[in-house]
Amino acid sequence: MSSVPVTKPLPNSASSRARRSAGPAPAADRASAVLRLYNSPEARRVKEEICHAGRKLWLRAFVDGNGGNISHRIGPNAVLCTPTLVSKYDLTPADICMVDLDGNQLAGTRPATSEMLLHLEIYKDVPQAKAAVHCHPPYTTAHAITGVEPDGLLLPEYEMLIGRVAMAPYESPGTLEFARTIKPYAAQHNAIILGNHGVICWGETVTWAEWQVEVLESYLQVLAIAKASGRPLRHIPAAKAGDLRARRLAMGFPDNGSSKARNRKA
Ligand SMILES: [Zn+2]
Repeated sequence: MSSVPVTKPLPNSASSRARRSAGPAPAADRASAVLRLYNSPEARRVKEEICHAGRKLWLRAFVDGNGGNISHRIGPNAVLCTPTLVSKYDLTPADICMVDLDGNQLAGTRPATSEMLLHLEIYKDVPQAKAAVHCHPPYTTAHAITGVEPDGLLLPEYEMLIGRVAMAPYESPGTLEFARTIKPYAAQHNAIILGNHGVICWGETVTWAEWQVEVLESYLQVLAIAKASGRPLRHIPAAKAGDLRARRLAMGFPDNGSSKARNRKA
């Protein structure tokens, strides 16, 4: 059960009709609508999904301490998100907050994470992005500190679900400048490595965004193992790249260009 009470709407009351004809809804109506959304069946489902994804991230060691954050855009100007200072393993639905696209907290008893600004930049720029997951998986974060863009055309899953990961520059975490580092990339890339920090992936649902993180991290782990073998990498033939790109686009993922082997000697 939620700790926030639901206020029943009075859509047909005389006062309600009078207010509608008088112009914008007063603050009490807006607050009531916010709580209805925050406590709606859809919000309850999403809160459970966020908690489930949080436990998956922790169990795979993709987050540390209270690190990482998860969000879902539930309305034109409403985003459900994880709070600050809670381990993703320990999340419960009652911990989930709701903010508007400017980062103002609308509902929830815990304060939202300051890194939510990063997620909000994606929602502002990419209408098809409904959910985002930010975390610090080790192999992906290793690329974040070397600044080396991962090689391509090595595994089909990576080509189909991500295509090409973007590399954003470093900025101080939690700041607007940090959030804006991803603006040049968010529309074309559903996975962005954050310089000296970690990664953010977006998708149609929280579950999909978490899968993007898993696919990227698994790919970079396999790539590290292959490189450590000292043997030359055997790339998928360039002639087959178009097929993988077509499948990526058919699944509704953004078009970030044709894949190619980018780093043959690395
Ligand atoms: Zn972070």
